[in-house]
Amino acid sequence: MTPKKNLPIYWSPDYVLKSGIETRTKSGPLAEILKAGEVPGVDLIAPSPISREELFVAHDEGYINRLVSDETPELIRSIFFSTGGVRDALDAMFEHGRAGSLSSGLHHAKRDRHEGFCYINGLAIAALRALSKHGANKVGVLDLDSHCGGGTFQLVGENEKILIADVSCNSFDVWRPNSDRHFLKIVQSADEYLDKVKQALKHLDDVDALIYNAGMDPFEDCMPGGMRGITREILGERERLVAQWCEDTQTPAMFVLAGGYSGPNLDLDGVARLHLPTIFEFARIRVNAKSKN
Ligand SMILES: [Zn+2]
Repeated sequence: MTPKKNLPIYWSPDYVLKSGIETRTKSGPLAEILKAGEVPGVDLIAPSPISREELFVAHDEGYINRLVSDETPELIRSIFFSTGGVRDALDAMFEHGRAGSLSSGLHHAKRDRHEGFCYINGLAIAALRALSKHGANKVGVLDLDSHCGGGTFQLVGENEKILIADVSCNSFDVWRPNSDRHFLKIVQSADEYLDKVKQALKHLDDVDALIYNAGMDPFEDCMPGGMRGITREILGERERLVAQWCEDTQTPAMFVLAGGYSGPNLDLDGVARLHLPTIFEFARIRVNAKSKN
């Protein structure tokens, strides 16, 4: 199948919940930037919401039912649409070679509880769907959010067909690798950051699909998460490395936004703009869908 020319990106206004938390707000201004045409070669597509049953592959049924009954309908709508976008991006990736969803708040969510702005672990749900619906043999989860992805490890760390590579800047939600499928590095200074990212990509060399948690919160002006010396230029190079790896290895790939927060020197529009390099790079590359299967 020939790859689709434009990069499909899933988003709808349902993702956005007016709150002080960028996890639930920043996709709004980012979608406006995309609608204005700032990144060529991108299609914004509205997803279908996820169903409760689709969440049970990764989450405890009691937890999901409590979540729906205890939280506000507005928050549930945001969570269900943004998780539906992750699922739809995964399916689109297998059709078009690359895709994304402007979703955030995934990798800390555990089987039976939410943690750190994350309610549903869309990364785990997507990885399991890649195996069950798309016949992938080996799926990689690349997590470059500033914080560790302990939720993803809890949910799919034991799955022999799922590889995890996690480069973090602090030990929040740290996990303990227990297999050669697992790669975790917590960087101590900005000057080692890109080397660790390259090692993470090497770790994933033989996966046949990639799910990328493209957190921008390592950026030095983000609070929480930022590390002094991790600049826009370094993160731009990170996104180029990841996307180029996808093209060079012809690995179908999808991204979600993940972390990225404002601070004294960074407003919400600035946070949204931090994520543009991911979209520029994914729009640039060409990957043949299912080329590795
Ligand atoms: Zn984070």
